[in-house]
Amino acid sequence: MFNFKNFLFIFFFSFCFDLQSIEIINYRFGLEKDINRIVIDINKNTEFKHFIKEKKLILEFKDEILKSKNFQKANNKAIKNISVKDQNLLIIDFEKDIFFKKVFFIKKQNGKKARIVIDFSELNKLNFKKKIIVIDAGHGGRDSGAIGVSGILEKKITLSFAKKIKNKLKGNKKFKIILTRNDDKYLQLRQRVGYARKVKADLFISLHADYHRNKNVSGVSIYTLSEKASDKEAEALAKRENKEDLIDGLDLSEESKEVTNILIDLTQRETMNQSSYFVNFLIKELSKRTKLLQRTHRFAGFAVLKAPDIPSVLLEMGYLSNKKDSKLLMDKNYQEKLIDGIIVAMEKYFQWIENNKFN
Ligand SMILES: [Zn+2]
Repeated sequence: MFNFKNFLFIFFFSFCFDLQSIEIINYRFGLEKDINRIVIDINKNTEFKHFIKEKKLILEFKDEILKSKNFQKANNKAIKNISVKDQNLLIIDFEKDIFFKKVFFIKKQNGKKARIVIDFSELNKLNFKKKIIVIDAGHGGRDSGAIGVSGILEKKITLSFAKKIKNKLKGNKKFKIILTRNDDKYLQLRQRVGYARKVKADLFISLHADYHRNKNVSGVSIYTLSEKASDKEAEALAKRENKEDLIDGLDLSEESKEVTNILIDLTQRETMNQSSYFVNFLIKELSKRTKLLQRTHRFAGFAVLKAPDIPSVLLEMGYLSNKKDSKLLMDKNYQEKLIDGIIVAMEKYFQWIENNKFN
């Protein structure tokens, strides 16, 4: 029997349904150079955010989503499963650790379906040439750095971490670790950068555990170079660290001033990108092991990051002004965890560089 109320309801319901639900129609694969591509066809335009959680890529849609009846798992070794959760999450479960190059949306047009495109490469094996990593233990000698709530000095903490990283990678086939200082020695910032340039380092990591005027602030943060510090706090910290001197140490004595500036600028730009890639891997690995400061990746004008041709990061391993951080930084298990994270991030970063060499 025709029931107008039911009819209205169904009509209204399907109208809403049509307005809101996104249908995931199918997905397919492509391979370009070393980059894998997944294309997901959907029935209409939408918006989504994406997150990476371990081996999962999670797309969070603004609207409700559902898989079409004909949706099938394509046969691809890289993917374990694709599922819909909580009505608006599409979860792509990968078999291995993945590096996502790009995730983007192509709007519906000219009779073509709307598409989500995911470009990724696998991080499966270590096949890069031996890399030289310079680990710089912050401060030293008459410059003791921050003083911890327990009285421990920053220069001691940084040296102990640097030595531990070196020990752990002794005889390692992939990494040669060189320290800027092996003992309680005072070094100028330019000497630290100078070492890295002299040994032609592939990566420079400066270790710190500074103080923060707010004793409650805790967690790991990572700085890379910016021409303009991104916030006042970072700038203030940079000023404190830079009080020594600042010279980039690049030998351009034969070049004119204009050429010199352009060369430094170009190189530095590329180096800054590389540094940021390394930070991404560091954040990913460290977040599995420890607490990170909000806005983990920060930008500042630290002189020690100014080698124009060597990707450089300054790792604030925590704040000595914070009771908990101070304690953690002296805890052997915690040190192990942090160091493991740094090493895995180095492996993944260089593997990624290797995979993306020709792009
Ligand atoms: Zn410091």
